Amino acid sequence: MTLKIGVIGAGAIGEDHTRRCMQVVSGAEIVAITDVNLARAREVADKYAPDAKVPESGEALIALPEVEAIIVTSWGGTHAQYVLEALKHGKYVFCEKPLATEAEDCRKIVETEAALGRRLVQVGFMRPYDSGYRALKKLIDAGEIGEVLMVHAAHRNARVGENYTIQMSVTDTLVHELDVFRWMLADDYVSAQVVFPRRTSKALPHMRDPQIIMLETRKGIRIDVEVFVNCQYGYDIKCAVVGELGEAILPLPAAVEVRKSAKQSCEIMTDWKDRFIAAYDVELQDFVDGVKAGKLNGATSWDGYCASVAADVCVKAQESGRIEPITMMDRPAFYDR
Ligand code: NAD
Repeated sequence: MTLKIGVIGAGAIGEDHTRRCMQVVSGAEIVAITDVNLARAREVADKYAPDAKVPESGEALIALPEVEAIIVTSWGGTHAQYVLEALKHGKYVFCEKPLATEAEDCRKIVETEAALGRRLVQVGFMRPYDSGYRALKKLIDAGEIGEVLMVHAAHRNARVGENYTIQMSVTDTLVHELDVFRWMLADDYVSAQVVFPRRTSKALPHMRDPQIIMLETRKGIRIDVEVFVNCQYGYDIKCAVVGELGEAILPLPAAVEVRKSAKQSCEIMTDWKDRFIAAYDVELQDFVDGVKAGKLNGATSWDGYCASVAADVCVKAQESGRIEPITMMDRPAFYDR
């Protein structure tokens, strides 16, 4: 059986997920694509799914009887309206992160889904599908390094453009760490603090870069994440987990080692799309398989809510410089792990 999918938002990742569903994932077909820019939707359809319809709105796409599942890849601020609409129709929806830009909208989605009593939403946090993070979690869960005490992490981009704001360093960048560490440690955050080291001269004037975000979890694990979005040299994701018995380090993607001119080197990627390309493939295949089996596996609406609340507090901590508490609503029993 082929799952018939509609895509809302035909930008960079909407195009990439359309290609992925048509060319990489098995058992899926894109049957409709829309965007506020309809010409752009038609362009992506022509490139990867020429038979796809281009309905005039996201709502019209969701209502199409042949659309069995929806992928939401529009701008973050528009995600909640489409996820809620999909839930109204009882349709499965894969929503790229963030689930919503406001924690209150995430809460609405959590409550709506819990009231339906059926899990229909998967949030597009792809790092739990990365083979490196999976290997790290497996080792932690097997007790190989004992109880986890600390995590030292870094999220570095070569550079960011004029439209990138300091808040986005949390809501767009750090948010991946906020999600993956909850999953990897099976823990929740209780507080956040942000400190700013010496500012790089390579940042645009409106940016304070780099920064260090310090998180504390319920179990008392301390996590420090360096976010450095103008590091110049590449896209670099680091994670070292320190436990009572040892340290486990996230493997780097395989790269050819070159020895030449008295130097030993290997390439560092510069594009995030390449760094996690395999994870996106596995993630979407899992969504398609999950819909068919009636059981989704990836990040839940609750995970989307938790990431959003933690991100809001980190933004507050950027401004206040203080240790800010992170408090979540009670988790509906529906999402019990
Ligand atoms: P983009 O700007 O390239 O594309 C967004 C598209 O959505 C645009 O074509 C825009 O016209 C369209 N759009 C905006 N409002 C709309 C609406 N109301 N209805 C229909 N279409 C609308 O952005 P992008 O880089 O593709 O990112 C899209 C989303 O995916 C963002 O939420 C982003 O955070 C997320 N994303 C996630 C990852 C990841 O690693 N998981 C990577 C990239 C992007």
